[in-house]
This record gives sequence, structure tokens and C-alpha cells, in this order.
Amino acid sequence: MRVSFSALVTLFLGTTSLLPQAAKATEPVVFDYMDPDSDWPLFSTIPTSFGDMPNECGMTERQSPIDIPTSVIRSLCERPTTPYFIDGRNTGKCEFSALSFPIRDVDVGVDLNGCTTMPSIKLDNGPNGDGANYTALQFHIHTGTEHSFNTDFEDAELHIVHANMNVGDFTYETGDFQVLGVKIRGGDGARPNYRFERLLVEWEESLAQTEASCSGELTVGDSTTVVGRSQSRPTGSFNPYDLIPVGTDFYTYEGSLTAPPCSQTVMWNLATEFMRVSRSQLLRLYNVINNYKYPMGSSAACQFNAKPDIEGSTSRPPQPLNGRIVKRTCGGIE
Ligand SMILES: [Zn+2]
Repeated sequence: MRVSFSALVTLFLGTTSLLPQAAKATEPVVFDYMDPDSDWPLFSTIPTSFGDMPNECGMTERQSPIDIPTSVIRSLCERPTTPYFIDGRNTGKCEFSALSFPIRDVDVGVDLNGCTTMPSIKLDNGPNGDGANYTALQFHIHTGTEHSFNTDFEDAELHIVHANMNVGDFTYETGDFQVLGVKIRGGDGARPNYRFERLLVEWEESLAQTEASCSGELTVGDSTTVVGRSQSRPTGSFNPYDLIPVGTDFYTYEGSLTAPPCSQTVMWNLATEFMRVSRSQLLRLYNVINNYKYPMGSSAACQFNAKPDIEGSTSRPPQPLNGRIVKRTCGGIE
């Protein structure tokens, strides 16, 4: 099935942003992070605008996230055929003012479809050979961390979602997707992260607008009224790859989407180094994600959609490695 580029940007994975709209006529699909393993497999199919998709969350071959046994793979360091970001830092042109900053059901995100030229990088290990070109569609952040390193978790996890646009006809089931993931550590003496701060301010503004619509102060979809913002959005350029720690290596493995339909078509690349933010910034991030309510049509009624776990996490627990090889790609950034 061919899908339009803009539809792909809107619909693609990691987030479950497509599901409330698709299910609005009946009941919203609620993902319960208190008990994801018992809850998610109950859906035999997931409604999307592509039609009902098979739900692969109950499969075990290559589900994500996983725990990465870092000590085991340290000796298997590999160099990529094409250094990561060598194109990404030089191609792609995004004006900060043209980006959108949705708060979705399980995360906060940035849609990159407003970029004049979409950022892209060449990545190895995909189903179409090494060095294939992948376009960055969006990125988003989960509270909690989905992937653990030697069973250690951090405070949040950033996912930059890429698709190989040369594949042409694809769906979640058959597409060629790669995600760059960065774990986020808050506090621990870290100063405020200014790159993160400019994003956080926009998400807080989105939350203020959602809350205003839920309380009836703002009609859903009313873009002419801006609540709680005293000045216009900053200008300047934005490059999503600037969020990735300089000099990091990556853990790479074959996995899946981490939310329904959990399609097993994603190559994961997890930075070994963390993004650092201040404790205050981390708390503000949790506040935005955990206090998001889903506006139900024009009635101004709102409800929580995803249910974070008891610690406020919207991350899926690690899934069985099931014999998969995790590689470490070293010297990936030039
Ligand atoms: Zn994600």
C-alpha cells in the first residue's frame, strides 16, 4: 500500500498518535503502562488509517525494547561503512518556527515535516544494504527509558524516527525503518541543557493550549488563539542531530515498534552516551507528558489516554533478546 509522505510523517510509530483518531468513533484505545504485557496482546488488530494492522506485540522474535548487555559486546566494536551524520549535518534545513510540537498520548514530539529539506543520514545494517539513506520524520521522548544497559535505566529516552523513502510502497509491516535513540539523564549536577530548553518551552505551550481546550477556554483546533504565550516562537535553524551527544558510539540491533502494533521492522541504534538535562528540566518534561489529556472532539471533554506506570513512565519494559546479536558501532560520527 502506498501512503503519502505527509501521512507517513503523521502516522509513524513510536508514538501511538494515530490510534485515538482512528478509534474515536467508538472508544479510545488506551495503553496501560502499568501492565503493558497483559494488556496490549488483547488487541488482535490495531486500527490505523491504513486499515486494521496485525498486532505483533505478543510475538517474541524481535520485539523492542531490550536490555543491552554492554559488557558482552564491548569486544565486537565495528566501524560503519559510512560515518553517521556526515550527510545529516550538512543536509536538511529546518527553521525552528516551522516545526510543530505535539504532545501525544505517550510522549512529546517534534514533527519535522515543516522542514524546508528533511534531515537525512546514511545508516548500515538495514534490509536494503549498508549506507542506505534514511530520512528523519519526527522525534519524540518517552518518560522512563525503554532500553536498559546492563539492567540500568535512565530518566527518559529520545527516539529520532527515520524511514528509507526509496522503498516506495510500505507499511509498518514491510517498511525499512531505523531509529536513533538517546537516553536522557536528569539532575546529577547537570546544568540546564539549552538545546532541550527551547523544545521544552514549546511543549509546555502545547500543554497549556490542550488544558485550555479541555476547560472550554479554547475551542479544539482553534489556531488563532494562543494561550499563555507572551512572545512569538524564536527564529533560527534547528538540526535534530545536534541532540545526539558528540563522539558517542551506538548499540545496534533488529527490533520493533515499542507500542502497538509493535511491527518488527525497525533497526535500532542506541547512543552509548547520554543526553544530560537539569533536574528541573526533567521534572517539567514529566509534568508535560503525564498531565496530557486527550481532547474528545468539540465537546471540550478530555480524558487521559495512555496510563503511565506508578513512576510516571511511558516506556515499555525490556523484551526477550531471543538470541539476537547486538553490535557496537564505534567512531560513527564525523
Ligand atoms: Zn519511541
